[in-house]
Amino acid sequence: MPKELLLQVTPEIAANESLLKDYLSKQIKVSVKDIQHISILKRSIDARQKAIKINLKINIFLQGENFVEQKIELPEYKDVSTSQEVIVIGAGPAGLFAALQLIELGLKPIVIERGKDVRGRRRDLKAINVDHIVNEDSNYCFGEGGAGTYSDGKLYTRSKKRGDIDRILKLLVAFGATPDILVEAHPHIGTNKLPQIIQDIREKIIEMGGKVLFETRVTDILVKNNEVQGVVNQNGDTIVANKIILATGHSARDIFELLDRKKIFIEAKPFALGVRAEHPQSLIDQIQYSCDYRGEHLPPAPYSIVKQVNGRGMYSFCMCPGGVIAPCATSPGEVVTNGWSPSKRDQATANSGIVIELKLEDFKPFAKFGALAGMEFQKSIEQNAWHLAGETQKVPAQRMIDFTQNKVSKEIPKTSYVPGTTSVEMGQVFPGFLSQILREGFSEFGKSMKGYLTNEAILHAPESRTSSPVRIPRDEITLEHLQIKGLYPCGEGAGYAGGIISAAIDGEKCALKIAESLLR
Ligand code: FAD
Repeated sequence: MPKELLLQVTPEIAANESLLKDYLSKQIKVSVKDIQHISILKRSIDARQKAIKINLKINIFLQGENFVEQKIELPEYKDVSTSQEVIVIGAGPAGLFAALQLIELGLKPIVIERGKDVRGRRRDLKAINVDHIVNEDSNYCFGEGGAGTYSDGKLYTRSKKRGDIDRILKLLVAFGATPDILVEAHPHIGTNKLPQIIQDIREKIIEMGGKVLFETRVTDILVKNNEVQGVVNQNGDTIVANKIILATGHSARDIFELLDRKKIFIEAKPFALGVRAEHPQSLIDQIQYSCDYRGEHLPPAPYSIVKQVNGRGMYSFCMCPGGVIAPCATSPGEVVTNGWSPSKRDQATANSGIVIELKLEDFKPFAKFGALAGMEFQKSIEQNAWHLAGETQKVPAQRMIDFTQNKVSKEIPKTSYVPGTTSVEMGQVFPGFLSQILREGFSEFGKSMKGYLTNEAILHAPESRTSSPVRIPRDEITLEHLQIKGLYPCGEGAGYAGGIISAAIDGEKCALKIAESLLR
């Protein structure tokens, strides 16, 4: 039987197997050559003290003990080419994991995606970054893999159900992600690795008899006697099915408008909104690791911060160490920021959304839009920022201390945001109460993280697509829409997920409920 041990070691020992063996041989008093294998089960960083330690949970196998490398395999997928069809609208994490689960359950997914496949999407990302052209069907939010494809690929979630999370992580490993994601306390994949994984998932769906239709935008959902009948695409073609998973993400405004127009019940939902702050990564390392230089064995430091300011939560969101700020608009005439990182997180800057929780009452000026009031509030800020920055994909920007002091920055240095920035007094982007909270909040952040409040940090605006501004209500047990039979609102856009892992979990849940309902 291997021995399970909990250790605290230096970053150098944790990074080097032979040093780790030396260390263990002294700890458990066996010779190095008697140690056959060390399996790392969990790894996290403890940066609370000046001398940073790595916490490891390991299994140690001595010579003679039976060590077998565990290979993570895909589930037994069935050939579903002639099975009952289920429409899945959206090929984000919710839609793709719903499709895989349907196949596992013997049902045939027809995945309908408005955007292009992962490779085709790249050209459109270049067009936003370089030519300031936003394709409304193919961008950082829309296209194969959804919003998470060209992201940092952070894979942690607030969900408490460890079993569900492990299942998704194992599937990702079986589709080619590094097994390290099963071990790290805060796993991430990176923009350079995600597209291949997404492509392999799609190829598996097709190999097992499912269908994936790209560049196919759903423009109508057919409903008769409160039951779904199928969907219509932008060319007027109808695809028939009486089970539909609606996993179109938080940016599919036309889907929210369609549901509203058809009087399919939806409701406004609070979300969070603010700016994206960019610091030199070396500065964040110094703050988080209390050192001048992080050295070669520690990863670029992340941070996470929350404060209550004027009765509202202000917090860091989707922090990307060693990352890049991305232009995430989904329509011309608006600007939106978010962030991504490559797997090594080796860029010179650290960026994070810094957002404030909104309340339904904030949407009052847009009350005439009913359930779409939050969406219109969000849109108005994105459009305002677009005007202020010069009506391209440049975004309004300001140095952090200048912002807290209401001073327009004299110049903005080049940041990682490729389309560029325009120096603007950030207060003009947001309603007054939000600017005030942001100003006070940054001063508070500076007190907790010494060095964070600095003019070296550049704020970009807005960070506005944090979660869906709309909820599509569903029955808690059957997961069907409250009013429309056969319609399964799913993932982040419907208000049931926030992030890649929770969206994937929700996709699986909807697929399971459909299988269950067909057995009834
Ligand atoms: P989405 O991923 O939004 O997928 C919805 C899909 O539906 C899209 O592909 C869209 O094209 C398609 N669609 C929309 N309308 C239609 C229509 N009418 N017809 C057909 N198809 C349609 N989360 C993390 O957990 N970790 C991260 O590191 C992270 N980084 C991010 C970085 C960026 C730049 C962005 C934009 C997001 C990031 N997120 C991250 C958030 C994460 O991507 C989302 O939470 C997640 O993708 C939501 O999954 P989903 O499947 O519910 O929706």
